[in-house]
Amino acid sequence: REEHVRKPDWLKIKLNTNESYTGLKKLMREKNLHTVCEEAKCPNIHECWAERKTATFMILGDICTRACRFCAVKSGLPNELDEQEPERVADSVSIMDLKHVVITAVARDDLNDKGATIFAETVRAIRRKSPFTTVEVLPSDMGGSEENLRILMDARPNIFNHNIETVRRLTPTVRAIATYERTLEVLRRCKEMHADIPTKSSVMLGLGETKEEILETMDDLRAVDVDILTLGQYMQPTKKHLKIKKYWTPEEFAELRDIAFSKGFKHCESGPLVRSSYHADEQVNAAQEN
Ligand code: SF4
Ligand code: SF4
Repeated sequence: REEHVRKPDWLKIKLNTNESYTGLKKLMREKNLHTVCEEAKCPNIHECWAERKTATFMILGDICTRACRFCAVKSGLPNELDEQEPERVADSVSIMDLKHVVITAVARDDLNDKGATIFAETVRAIRRKSPFTTVEVLPSDMGGSEENLRILMDARPNIFNHNIETVRRLTPTVRAIATYERTLEVLRRCKEMHADIPTKSSVMLGLGETKEEILETMDDLRAVDVDILTLGQYMQPTKKHLKIKKYWTPEEFAELRDIAFSKGFKHCESGPLVRSSYHADEQVNAAQEN
């Protein structure tokens, strides 16, 4: 029988929703847009949308061609390609008056360019309408294709983010199609294309990894010159998803952050509630100042 791991107190938080939040939700429905903030029921939504002026949009539809075992996004036959999506995202970024925006997407293994063109157009449309908003991209591995990655990188996002998600040993049981080596390869290539664009990656903790394995993953990310690291607690979205093996404590997260800085990361967010896009606005400056 599998042991049940009790949810610790530091994760029992209430969703803070207010009027501005309700208005923004309405805007998303009108524009037919998806945000990770809402779909993942992110606990930071009030802080991000209202106080920090940051949000994470998910483009290229809401159905993924992959099915990673930790992820709540639906998988199956993808939506039809929506050529107007870049402009609608850019309109919303401007209406929400965002300081920093993260653009992520489902994996579109069905498309020749894996969605790179729409991704790049979204970055450019935001630039046109909100020139002072910093733009972070968080794409799939785009099939590992140099050509696809170049289409995206040439739109010059402020941060290129690509998540390694977990340690080497657990990758085959946690992620679908993506591999540990290919993720590192994608991060390496993007850095080579535009050395001045900071790269970033995230690891979810609590899937059974050891501290030694986390440190090894940090070394692997530093070896391809990744600038920014985020570490957060994995939360099981539904019963069908991977079980939580361990709740790392706030103290352990703090220790890991210190280690990350000592290994040369320019910025690291590390804590139970940290998500890939959490406090992302601060990371742009931190990565550029150094
Ligand atoms: Fe959205 Fe990320 Fe903020 Fe959560 S942490 S509300 S997903 S921007
Ligand atoms: Fe979720 Fe991304 Fe995996 Fe698709 S590729 S299932 S969106 S983590």
